[in-house]
Amino acid sequence: MGVGADDLDPADWEALRAEAHRMLDDAIDHVRTVRDRPVWRPIPDDIRAGFDAALPHQGSDLGTVHAEFRDTVQAYGLGNLHPGFMGWVHGGGTVVGMLAEMLAGGLNANLGGRDHAPIEVERQILRWVRVLFGYPSTASGLFVTGTSMANFLAVLVARTQALGTEIRRTGLGGRNDGLVAYASTAAHGCIRQAFEMSGLGADALRLIATDAEHRLDLAALQAAIAADRAAGLTPFMVIANAGTVDVGAIDDLNAVADIAAAEGAWFHVDGAFGALGMLTPELAPLLAGIERSDSLAFDFHKWGQVPYDAGYLLVRDGETHRATFASPAAYLRRETRGLAGGSPWPCDFGPDLSRGFRALKTWFTLKVYGLDRLGEAIAGTCRVARHLRDRIQAEERLELLAPVALNVVCFRHKGADPDRLNARIVADLHESGIAVPSTTTIGGCLAIRAAIVNHRTREDDVDRMVDAILALGAKQ
Ligand SMILES: *Cc1c(COP(=O)(O)O)cnc(C)c1O
Repeated sequence: MGVGADDLDPADWEALRAEAHRMLDDAIDHVRTVRDRPVWRPIPDDIRAGFDAALPHQGSDLGTVHAEFRDTVQAYGLGNLHPGFMGWVHGGGTVVGMLAEMLAGGLNANLGGRDHAPIEVERQILRWVRVLFGYPSTASGLFVTGTSMANFLAVLVARTQALGTEIRRTGLGGRNDGLVAYASTAAHGCIRQAFEMSGLGADALRLIATDAEHRLDLAALQAAIAADRAAGLTPFMVIANAGTVDVGAIDDLNAVADIAAAEGAWFHVDGAFGALGMLTPELAPLLAGIERSDSLAFDFHKWGQVPYDAGYLLVRDGETHRATFASPAAYLRRETRGLAGGSPWPCDFGPDLSRGFRALKTWFTLKVYGLDRLGEAIAGTCRVARHLRDRIQAEERLELLAPVALNVVCFRHKGADPDRLNARIVADLHESGIAVPSTTTIGGCLAIRAAIVNHRTREDDVDRMVDAILALGAKQ
């Protein structure tokens, strides 16, 4: 494809169309044939070195660059499309999401604000999310990169609630009025990071012990709050997990809500992947109490299968949310008519002004599949996890290291020096291309962690992984 002399559009639209169809076919085939390839392959040295090329002052043909993409990028991906991918907590994506991304790219919409239909798509999702989680019509919401960002913004909103908007002008100045917050030791690392970045400091976050089911220990929470009160500090925020990153545990959300309410503290839920368990009748009861939270962070890109990235923050008190971020800049002046209408805008609810159209791939995913079908996919991952649990329990040489609450299975191969053995097995497994679990630490032991998030993962995929682990474990 050559470009015209006057602008960056193609000189020959029909040639572009033919090339575009080849690219689309190739992208569809890549998903369709995913099972025929290894989950992951290391990047060969010469391919990696190729990314060290000089700045491209002269352009190249589109087809040439696409071929390079196919050979050097597409061929060495993360692997999370593959049913054998069970590492960390990654969504599998869908072709519907992929197509919506393409359409969004064509619109080149900026979702920071102003009065256009893409903003209405994002607002529609907010209305749906409110209904899904039992939030009032005054609740606000915002697409962000991921739950790490959503948790961070939630801490800033809770800080506004505790200290007032004046803190935006004065800053904390080394004091935080004795604010303290609570989460369990199973909280994701981004919670600590949120406190570091908020200026409140990581010391303001108390990490509370968990019970045998890896849930926040309520008695320990109450004792920590009482000790902080006695020391003259102000408990201002309690953070619960709806699906811990390690084992998928869900805290007793109603009990945590009661404690937060009694303390007048902000109740935040990190539901990164677990919150969308609301889509299946099998899991929704486990999330009872989520509707009482003051804010909720979750990802559409994990259990929701929307392509990366599509994190979301929902806040009950939309006004406090807006008051935390909105800015009166002259160039962002609002009007009652014309394109500068439609206030408030998404940029009033977070630090991003320019924002992509994450809402569109989510809108397509929700509409094309429907909530019930997405819920079935979520329930299916839990079924596969239970199958894996049963298989592990039936194997003499394997042991389960944590209860299987949802879709995450932590286990290990028995043997002398088990931490080294299991780390070696996991690395060998990655390089074999058969399956990709990750590792974590449970009760001081290195565990193989299989998080079944991908809608494509079936029972025979986890069986294949177990067979490979047994074979690798037998090898010395
Ligand atoms: C994945 C995860 C996060 C981080 O979410 P990102 O979308 O990766 O930023 C936070 N908390 C939990 C419980 C998670 O599983």
